[in-house]
Amino acid sequence: MSMKRYDCAIVGAGPGGGAAAIAAADAGLCCLLLEARRTPGERTACGGGLAIGTARELELPASVAEQQLAAMAFHFRGAPDTSRVWESWRPIGVTVDRRRFDSHLAGRAQALGAEVVTEARVTGVDRDTGVVEYRQGGAVRRIAASFVVFADGATTLAPRMGDLGFISRPDNTIGAIAWEYEAPGHGYRRFDCYYDKVTVPWGYYWIFPRADVLNIGVGIVLDAVRGGAKGGGAGLPSLLARFTDSIPAIQGRHPTRRLGGLVPLEPAARVADGRLLAVGDAAGLVNPITGGGIHHAIYSGRLAGEAVAHAWKRGSSKTPYGRWLMRSPSYRWLSLLASVTAYGHRSWPGTAFVRLTRALTTFAETVDKIDRPISRFLNWRAASKWQ
Ligand SMILES: Cc1cc2nc3c(=O)[nH]c(=O)nc-3n(C[C@H](O)[C@H](O)[C@H](O)COP(=O)(O)OP(=O)(O)OC[C@H]3O[C@@H](n4cnc5c(N)ncnc54)[C@H](O)[C@@H]3O)c2cc1C
Repeated sequence: MSMKRYDCAIVGAGPGGGAAAIAAADAGLCCLLLEARRTPGERTACGGGLAIGTARELELPASVAEQQLAAMAFHFRGAPDTSRVWESWRPIGVTVDRRRFDSHLAGRAQALGAEVVTEARVTGVDRDTGVVEYRQGGAVRRIAASFVVFADGATTLAPRMGDLGFISRPDNTIGAIAWEYEAPGHGYRRFDCYYDKVTVPWGYYWIFPRADVLNIGVGIVLDAVRGGAKGGGAGLPSLLARFTDSIPAIQGRHPTRRLGGLVPLEPAARVADGRLLAVGDAAGLVNPITGGGIHHAIYSGRLAGEAVAHAWKRGSSKTPYGRWLMRSPSYRWLSLLASVTAYGHRSWPGTAFVRLTRALTTFAETVDKIDRPISRFLNWRAASKWQ
């Protein structure tokens, strides 16, 4: 029996895969999106924090963009303990439930004609023929594709299938866990980030609120987690348990979901190899300071889908994706941050954060005092002094 042929096959229906499928299907390509889980985002560990610009660009419905937030608080523990709240005139971000968010993107790709197959775990891709092998319900299936996009996250198959993609090492990867608590009426209205140089060297705790849920997590660079000494020999769950014990809104409650994952800190040396492309975490595209990768997954996924369509229309087997991505300001910014932070992984960046947030918020306060319309225009306002 002959194999079914697609113009573009995409491995993984996270934000990177969803965005690639939307762009490729919108350009008229015959596109297949393969997802290992029963539903997209089902087991994805994530705080679900997304910049307002990305949420608006995606025109997310209120059922997906659960909560708009207009403030961010940075808490620095250690000597001296400080907190700084940055409150803006307009929303700065939204929070999403990744199951709904990822499913929403896959649904949009499907509406544009992409075929979405779940419970389909890709096990191999032939770089030369474009044959993709996947397992579904105990059966091994094969299809052929002119282009294959790896959007399968930080533990991507890409480096084993070609010369591309993120290769995880203990010093270029964060281990992170997120626990979710049902907490109706929790009262949280901002992104809270806690830096603690004693227990969380190079990483942070967070509390990100959704409508009725608090998403609370911690992430630390892997070689510090493995060393263990900084947490008194404790792993991520015991560190997070200690942190959640200090939060009044969830006292006496147990997490309804516990998820863990990896966060790449360094863009991959190569993001394309002939017909193969890597996007999002699979290409190491995450802000190494914040750990935020949803925006970069969407941006690179869309670029990959457009680059595949570009090559397909010209009958070429090579896409301009690598060139387009590496020239983009978003990629250059990530590379710059990655090279700066690479030297600081083993030291705590708190001092730099304290200085930076202090300088920025002081500047914002000054602008606000001098001319409120200007501070409104700039969307800058510092809400409180150092505590
Ligand atoms: C604990 C934690 C908290 C985070 N919080 C935030 C945050 O608040 N904001 C933010 O912007 N970023 C956050 N991130 C980072 C963010 O989650 C990722 O950068 C983002 O999800 C990357 O999207 P992606 O599409 O590249 O990969 P993923 O979202 O990882 O999607 C990969 C998809 O591929 C599927 N898959 C994997 N292997 C296969 C296979 N072999 N075959 C088929 N399918 C496969 C997976 O099931 C998954 O659905 C966080 C990460 C962690 C670990």
